Amino acid sequence: MRYISTRGRAPELGFDDALLAGLATDGGLYVPSSWPRFSQTEWAAFAALDYAGLATKVIAPYVRGSVAESSLLSIAKQAYGGFAHQAVAPLVQLDSQLWLMELFHGPTLAFKDYALQMVGLLFDHVLKARGSRITIVGATSGDTGSAAIEACKDRAAVDIFILHPAGRVSEVQRRQMTTVQSSNVHNVAVQGSFDDCQNIVKAMFADVELRADLNLSAVNSINWARIMAQIVYYAWASLRLGSEYKPVAFAVPTGNFGNVFAGYVAKQMGLPIAKFAVGSNRNDILTRYFETGLMTAADVVPSLSPSMDIQISSNFERLLFSAYNNDGVAVANLMERFKQSGEYAVDPASHARIMALFAGDRSKDDVTKATIKSVFAATGQVVDPHTAIGIHAARVLKGSPDMPIIALGTAHPAKFPDAIEAAIGQRPALPAHLADLLQRHERFTTLANDLDQIKAYVRQHARQI
Ligand SMILES: *Cc1c(COP(=O)(O)O)cnc(C)c1O
Repeated sequence: MRYISTRGRAPELGFDDALLAGLATDGGLYVPSSWPRFSQTEWAAFAALDYAGLATKVIAPYVRGSVAESSLLSIAKQAYGGFAHQAVAPLVQLDSQLWLMELFHGPTLAFKDYALQMVGLLFDHVLKARGSRITIVGATSGDTGSAAIEACKDRAAVDIFILHPAGRVSEVQRRQMTTVQSSNVHNVAVQGSFDDCQNIVKAMFADVELRADLNLSAVNSINWARIMAQIVYYAWASLRLGSEYKPVAFAVPTGNFGNVFAGYVAKQMGLPIAKFAVGSNRNDILTRYFETGLMTAADVVPSLSPSMDIQISSNFERLLFSAYNNDGVAVANLMERFKQSGEYAVDPASHARIMALFAGDRSKDDVTKATIKSVFAATGQVVDPHTAIGIHAARVLKGSPDMPIIALGTAHPAKFPDAIEAAIGQRPALPAHLADLLQRHERFTTLANDLDQIKAYVRQHARQI
């Protein structure tokens, strides 16, 4: 498989180079040059596989030429073997039409483990074959950081630096990152917002010298390999509930648009997915876009769903590229306009293509709490605030009443105990493997929202390549 940049000016790469590069040199994101497709018969055969087996089939065409299918299967078995639920991504029925896919049975209790456990092992595999090392730099609004750290800790070929916005991630989220004691793990609390952290990471990648000196790489959702690994659970749920013929819809809470974009790719691969409902919190740049066709930046405001406190949805660029029929120059122009003026309009034909498939919804915090409460009252299921926003978004879907809707359970409720307590008056317990998290020793460095200071810190603490 060859990979091309959404801005059309970076070199085409194979899978291992795209994995290691993260962001493309023209500022764009890597996407496959075409979508592999399976026939209905092939999907029907995949329905019999377990999660690791299905992951191998779905991912194989994207890594062909870099990772052999037999290696891929053992990587997938290792990645998902330690998950706390045998089904890996179990489906729970909430009502006659609505299902919840629990994507929080990995080591850090959020859906990001489903991609990152796989990506960490793919890094190892590819670096071992090349005899080289990398420095991973990432920004997190909460869940990516811990999932990346769990995926990369103690790996000999990797140093990992994770920037999080100081005071803007929950205590459980922070501790899941800062209590990992491995010497190759570096946590930096930045005095700014998540978007500030993300801008610093982007600026570090734009610094050619730094990038080359430290062999910089990324694990946030700009890395194609994460999207790739997330396609798997859309296929998993579609095959369980819809069969290979019957359409299903998904309801997805969104921040960076990475998760729901993986669903879009699943559809391109031939799965019968009719529609995506996309939920935002009050940081609703995407909902406003769906309503108007205009992307307009706004300031980030903290909410009960911190992993979605984002006003620049990086992965939306991948959808744009597809909606503009892979016209990288057009996408580069839109991105340049956005950078200059904080606004761009999607051309009507491309916007119509997007609206045929996506519907937007928003939940402010009071609505999120009400959703947690009503789901609990009706079903006994405790859902985290992000998941609740997805469930609320399901109501904007106007499909036939017998079309299953699958809401993605993106985090375990115990990651956000304050929000849950505010909604239903009970604090959810952490699962056994994290029960002593609040007693563990933390280790992190607080730095100003200052690119040069953070660059210097990374140079100083990265091992020599
Ligand atoms: C990261 C995250 C999201 C948002 O996912 P994107 O891929 O950024 O759209 C939603 N919920 C939870 C719990 C998350 O950790």
